[in-house]
Amino acid sequence: MSEKIDPALPKVELHLHFEGAAPPAFIRGLAKEKHIDIAKIFTPDGGYAYRDFWHFLEVYEAACTTLQSPEDFRRLTLAVLEDRAKDGVVYAETFLSPDFCGVGDVTAWREYLLAIEEAALEAQKTMGITLKGIVTAIRHFGPDQSRATALCAAETKSDFLTGFGLAGDEKQFHPKDFTWAFDCAREAGLRLTAHAGEWGGPESVRDALDHLKVERIGHGVRAIEDLALVDQLAEQGTVLEVCPGSNVFLGVYPSFDKHPIDRLREREVKVTISTDDPPFFRTTLTQEYETLARAFGWTEDDFRAINRDAANAAFCDEATRARILQILEGRA
Ligand SMILES: [Zn+2]
Repeated sequence: MSEKIDPALPKVELHLHFEGAAPPAFIRGLAKEKHIDIAKIFTPDGGYAYRDFWHFLEVYEAACTTLQSPEDFRRLTLAVLEDRAKDGVVYAETFLSPDFCGVGDVTAWREYLLAIEEAALEAQKTMGITLKGIVTAIRHFGPDQSRATALCAAETKSDFLTGFGLAGDEKQFHPKDFTWAFDCAREAGLRLTAHAGEWGGPESVRDALDHLKVERIGHGVRAIEDLALVDQLAEQGTVLEVCPGSNVFLGVYPSFDKHPIDRLREREVKVTISTDDPPFFRTTLTQEYETLARAFGWTEDDFRAINRDAANAAFCDEATRARILQILEGRA
């Protein structure tokens, strides 16, 4: 009923947390070099160990303590892109946080950003993968810090740094607490996305649309609980960055076949597929496609169409978009 998905199928990934994509072996290596004891965040088989979403945030932040310099981030960029390229990803966008790169200081942030961008350009040449960055405010760090983060993003907007977003614990604060940051980013010409409708219900998606005026929603899957909202998303062309494996792993849905991605797509919502924090959720994009193909009978043609929608929703310049669309069509 479903075909095997070719891992080499060219893919576009829009929702990827940069530090969350760090291979555990890479983080373990850095911890050893720097004599940082974070042994407790690893399982005996070398993966990341955590109990639930809130503990995951703690483990994530502990892993981030090993990333202390622009050079660490240069190496991280190459390690993350090597994994993505092996997975057939030809274009990725990643969430970057100045809070983890120079503690929100713009001058320090510029150095981190330069290191990441240079490594990304190297990877483009050697691995054929293009990366763009989305600065992300961390919701549970609060509205004040989000303002500093937005200013960092606005000051450093570039061909590489193209978007602004909001991630972190959806249960803390309200989207309206972040309007200043999103207005600042929008005025600077950054494209906007926000996490909503993962832990919060459909009202959290409405609030993100109304208060933050985003064009994409990170997750957004719980919109399915309000069909009027689903129709609104379809009509407006709001793109959902759906991460099914992450949702199942963290218990938002009990299994892939209970996940609403197929129903959202049937109601003409533009869905895209991403891995969120792949080593944390023990997944790859190819694995997501294979599981979706098994759950819903999707074929490579379905994934090609989804990847075209993702390329059209990418926060990149038009020349890059045209090039990626050509690769997806097999013409480059
Ligand atoms: Zn996410």
